[in-house]
Amino acid sequence: MYDVEKVRTEFPILGRKVGGKDLVYLDNAATSQKPRRVLEALNEYYEEHNANIHRGVHRLSEEATSAYEGSRRKVARFLGAPEETGLVFTRGTTESVNLVAHAWGRKELREGDEVVLTEVEHHSNLVPWQLAARATGAKLRFVPVLEDGTLDMEEAARLIGPRTKMVAAVHASNVLATINPVERLAELAHEAGALMLVDGAQSAPHLPVNVEALGCDFFACSGHKMLGPTGVGVLWGRPEVLEEMDPFLGGGEMIREVHLDHSTWNDPPHKFEAGTMNIGQVVGLGAAVDYLKGLRMENVREHERRLGEYAYQRLSELEGITIHGPTEDRTGIASFTLPDVHPHDLSQLLDEEGIAIRSGHHCTQPLMRRLGVVATARASFYLYNTEEEVDALVDALARAREFFGAFV
Ligand code: PLP
Repeated sequence: MYDVEKVRTEFPILGRKVGGKDLVYLDNAATSQKPRRVLEALNEYYEEHNANIHRGVHRLSEEATSAYEGSRRKVARFLGAPEETGLVFTRGTTESVNLVAHAWGRKELREGDEVVLTEVEHHSNLVPWQLAARATGAKLRFVPVLEDGTLDMEEAARLIGPRTKMVAAVHASNVLATINPVERLAELAHEAGALMLVDGAQSAPHLPVNVEALGCDFFACSGHKMLGPTGVGVLWGRPEVLEEMDPFLGGGEMIREVHLDHSTWNDPPHKFEAGTMNIGQVVGLGAAVDYLKGLRMENVREHERRLGEYAYQRLSELEGITIHGPTEDRTGIASFTLPDVHPHDLSQLLDEEGIAIRSGHHCTQPLMRRLGVVATARASFYLYNTEEEVDALVDALARAREFFGAFV
């Protein structure tokens, strides 16, 4: 039995007040809160083991190295990766996609080649490919999104063909709450001889993920969205693909031999980890993954699925509301617009009630244009949110409408 009240006691920040009201934190798609266990792991690392890794032979360096590499093993297992050599630490999803678009893209893409993306991508999985296309002459193609917030998979099958070298798609949309059929996209990519990258920023924190079962070649996610610290993320890549790639950043640790006029590269994953990494944060991410494993991702998904459904149903009671995305099989995200009230005004009024939601384009400007809006309000739930918090949100929205109604 998933005990959300017990879970809540493990997140110190959830006990705080905002403007004298209980904090209701519903901005989890932007970043998640951290359990005590992660905060303690960070503290313990700095109080007892802090040193630079890999290069030192003293005790602290060995301990720090072992904690860092231990996190690599834990995260690899958490994502279902067969070997940890494919698990590269980065700063986050954005850096992971940039790494692939640079280190793979600049080497492999040529004029006439195509990279297939979707219309629902976060800017992090769009702009790096625009830069790669500009540098190589490759073209970007886009799988359209249908009215119901799902991808047009018939069009995907037409678009992905002999020119395609890479398919890169978001697993769970940060706006529409859609879970995209990335397994099918990976099949289409491989049938065409292309590779598949999955942006897992909104899936790894919320769904059981197994990169082998997804059939992808790259999987990117961010530690801070899955209970870990900021400044650490992950790129999982098939070891044989990573092997063939050029490095991304040059510097210490990513080399084997350095001469004045050339260098040779370390093996993956170290080839992609130049300079001193965010060691403390990597250790914190290991603790986050331990915590998620302890809860079991199936339970996390079930809790959020139920809460998402409840939120969808309660929000639908608000007259004139548009909740974007599919009606079923959603993650715990609800992006919505209310007639006559700007999303920014809504989130400001909600803040006065201690309720944190987000408003804006959510780094998906092309999708906003496709939806015909400039911005949406977005409530995003996580494993510590409750039905009472959904009720607080809906009641506050109703009051906000009354307030604004007085001015129209
Ligand atoms: N992709 C998606 C779907 C996201 O929601 C986000 C963050 O909101 C990102 C990528 C970028 O993540 P980060 O800023 O942690 O690099």
